[in-house]
Amino acid sequence: MLKLYDLEFVPLIPQAEIAAAVQKISDSILKDFHDEIPIFVGILNGSFMFISDLVKQYPGKCEVDFVKMKSYVGTESTGKIKEIIGLGNPNGKPLIIVEDIIDTGNTIENIVNTLEKTGVSNYKIASLFLKPEVYKKPYKIDYLGMEIPNKFIVGYGLDYNGLGRNLPEVFQLKNKIK
Ligand code: 5GP
Ligand code: MG
Repeated sequence: MLKLYDLEFVPLIPQAEIAAAVQKISDSILKDFHDEIPIFVGILNGSFMFISDLVKQYPGKCEVDFVKMKSYVGTESTGKIKEIIGLGNPNGKPLIIVEDIIDTGNTIENIVNTLEKTGVSNYKIASLFLKPEVYKKPYKIDYLGMEIPNKFIVGYGLDYNGLGRNLPEVFQLKNKIK
């Protein structure tokens, strides 16, 4: 049992399962990009741990970059994307957008719109987790780690009001402590 502020969490995805999902994504990206130099673009803050493990795993040549976005407050997506800094592709290398989790898809929509507006078409989307019950956007997730139920999760980069990002495994919300 894990307690963060007013919420209780129970284990959902152990480290070994996460590692297998990261390996699967790395393998698929290598298959597609072994002749090129992709730029892995992590969407901060949530994806820092995933992108770190992903690029350590990735045996090909690559670059690593980051953009910062935020749509979650507490346990709900606000639907409004707060920031998007530094997204672009000056040298024409393929971009791999690296997300921790896709929920409503608002963040991905914002990224796709920004890329298309700046004329970037050479990109793919990778996400470690997807909530298929919630995601209704048309954008294809090119590399997906695993689908998860529509539950609020923390750990492996994901936070609840700033806490839990450092946990090496994933926990799901159990109930609110009264
Ligand atoms: P979306 O824009 O697809 O609704 O959500 C994208 C972002 O919201 C994710 O990158 C992540 O930072 C945050 N998010 C979505 N679902 C969860 C969740 O279950 N737990 C946490 N901690 N953050 C989430
Ligand atoms: Mg995120």
